[in-house]
Amino acid sequence: MTPRDQLDPEALTALRRDLEDNIEGDVRFERFFRGMHSTDASVYQIIPLGVVAPRSRDDVVRVVELCSKHGASITARGGGTSQAGQAIGPGLQLDFSRHMNRLLDIDIEGRTVRVEPGMVLDELNARLKPHGLQLPLDLSTSSRATIGGMIANNSAGTRSIVYGKTIDYVEELEVVLADATSVMMQVLDEDARHEKSKRDDLEGTC
Ligand SMILES: Cc1cc2nc3c(=O)[nH]c(=O)nc-3n(C[C@H](O)[C@H](O)[C@H](O)COP(=O)(O)OP(=O)(O)OC[C@H]3O[C@@H](n4cnc5c(N)ncnc54)[C@H](O)[C@@H]3O)c2cc1C
Repeated sequence: MTPRDQLDPEALTALRRDLEDNIEGDVRFERFFRGMHSTDASVYQIIPLGVVAPRSRDDVVRVVELCSKHGASITARGGGTSQAGQAIGPGLQLDFSRHMNRLLDIDIEGRTVRVEPGMVLDELNARLKPHGLQLPLDLSTSSRATIGGMIANNSAGTRSIVYGKTIDYVEELEVVLADATSVMMQVLDEDARHEKSKRDDLEGTC
């Protein structure tokens, strides 16, 4: 179903019930929670239909399936520190900062980490410091900014001329697409990209 900005009361109740029955994370449709998630660091305010804080990749897949079934749009949210309104929307707010904020793996030799998208930059760097490593992106919101939000914004800081921007540090992403398929995405050379673009699924076309 094509996402709509507003749902009629019956559809909204059905969406909420389906989410509550199928999601392990938090499902909050109370006015207070919707109000709390209606702003970011911009001048805008948009009250969402509801807020879900997923606990796992499977939760995210189910949210996408259920929002698609009921015709609700989704806006992902990390720390909500964006300044142009891109972290708010009229559909469902998918808040990664509450539960999906763990460091999953550190490979000291390979100088790579695997994290959930809601991990905060300062927390990641605190975990890396004992190993003499850091992610050298110095956003002034580093105590709140999450890796997911940084990737979506391609965040940078005053040292970006020397150290680069977020995109320069991303090797692989697990992405849940709009049709609820979950795909691994890596940097591709031109030939591999061309091959993949021949696929007629959503991964090939996006
Ligand atoms: C005072 C101030 C100073 C700032 N300084 C800087 C700076 O120096 N450099 C800089 O680059 N930016 C800066 N910013 C902007 C912002 O803080 C950063 O870009 C930050 O990285 C955003 O992270 P976030 O977790 O708050 O993302 P959010 O604001 O929550 O989200 C940002 C975008 O990412 C999307 N998103 C979030 N999580 C996911 C996910 N899991 N999957 C898919 N999409 C997702 C959201 O939908 C949104 O479009 C500043 C902002 C403020 C208010």
